[in-house]
Amino acid sequence: MSTYRLNSTRHAPDSADYRVYHAKNWRDIPQLARLDKERLFEMEVVSKVFPFKTNNFVIDNLIDWSDTDNDPIFALNFPHRDMLKRQDFRTLADLVYRKAEPALIEHCVRDIRASLNPHPAGQQDHNVPVLDGRRLPGMQHKYRETVLFFPSQGQTCHAYCTFCFRWPQFTGHAEERFASREIDDLIRYLRRHPEVTDVLFTGGDPMIMSSRVLANYVRPLLNARIPSLRRIRFGAKALTFWPHRFVTDRDADSLLALLGDLVDAGLHVAIMAHFNHPRELDPPVVWEAIKRLRESGVEIRTQSPLLRPVNAKAEIWQSMWKTQVDLGCIPYYMFLARDTGAHEYFSVPLVRAWRIYRDAIVGVSGLARTVRGPSMSATPGKVEVMGISTLGDQKVITLRFLQGRDPAWVMQPFFGRHDEKATWLDELQPATGSRWFFEEAPEHRKAG
Ligand SMILES: *Cc1c(COP(=O)(O)O)cnc(C)c1O
Ligand code: SF4
Repeated sequence: MSTYRLNSTRHAPDSADYRVYHAKNWRDIPQLARLDKERLFEMEVVSKVFPFKTNNFVIDNLIDWSDTDNDPIFALNFPHRDMLKRQDFRTLADLVYRKAEPALIEHCVRDIRASLNPHPAGQQDHNVPVLDGRRLPGMQHKYRETVLFFPSQGQTCHAYCTFCFRWPQFTGHAEERFASREIDDLIRYLRRHPEVTDVLFTGGDPMIMSSRVLANYVRPLLNARIPSLRRIRFGAKALTFWPHRFVTDRDADSLLALLGDLVDAGLHVAIMAHFNHPRELDPPVVWEAIKRLRESGVEIRTQSPLLRPVNAKAEIWQSMWKTQVDLGCIPYYMFLARDTGAHEYFSVPLVRAWRIYRDAIVGVSGLARTVRGPSMSATPGKVEVMGISTLGDQKVITLRFLQGRDPAWVMQPFFGRHDEKATWLDELQPATGSRWFFEEAPEHRKAG
């Protein structure tokens, strides 16, 4: 197993011990006393722009407090001044330092947020399904087989990742809506769209919901017995940020029973577990959580973006995938950090990302080579960097769609001009011609 082993003999706290820290009380975190004043001030400034939340499990078990400058989980959970552009940081820091009027600070924060591409990949406009002329904003339907469902009560997490591409969701005011209304819409939409075989509950982290609230969504879906619906997935970070959810929480058993009922009804149930670093797999309570989930018939597939301050080394991924396979999880996706928020701080250039992926995957057995990537969730689809090649005498980056807005695009290799610095699809130039094949007029598409 990995070499990072911190406090792993510590007993899992009972759920009664759950302590959350957010923008208002983060100064109460005891370990922060180790940090110098300047660092704390920087955190205060940056946390005005990006949402901040952590809890006692993360700070007591996952962070090496003697080396916060290099600690991957500290970087994953606590803001850093470089997450803002230098000038933005200075402007905001100045306002905070001289205790400017709240309205002035708010205005500055709003401007900075607006400049950080808060809604990447056309999520607000392109992917919202329509039923009888009405938009269904709690869902996204981008790829034919899979609908994303955002239960309104699952739109937060046990802690927030600093790179989170859903960060604007946590900064606005949560909408309160009734679960039943939304799930009825989902059921009607699925009946109308038999091409949809998968529903993915996502958030936030849907595992933040109590079992009772989650059941209000899941039971009606189960009872509707929609023949075309075969798979239910739950995106979740709780295995890292609050594994007790599946072990010692008061309603852990009823959660597993609920998932087990889906399995017994013949559905494939998958937790799309979000792990960014092998250290997150160290605490024994995580192994226990994985074991209990698997015993209830649930598959665990794992995914993570590649993040410069957190996991930008082949050995880290290798170690993570090996441990995941040892624990019965299936490595699934390696993503590139999305082009939103503190993208410049977290992103790794495509060419380097591909080398990390390749170097990691050659060192693991076939059972861990199920992971696809590095992949960009871009506006036209999920684009995988397949490798570096030559086309005639031109060096190129070979790409393909793993998922496409148009299914006809999927799996066809296409080529971008080699560029060591590019971090996202829109920074690449097509190797031939002036447009990508998927940008051509529909009547030319088949030829591409
Ligand atoms: C990644 C993703 C999916 C799921 O894709 P799979 O390849 O089936 O895992 C579905 N919808 C959206 C919008 C996605 O980004
Ligand atoms: S767990 Fe997922 S949704 Fe929650 S903060 Fe992290 S990346 Fe964002």
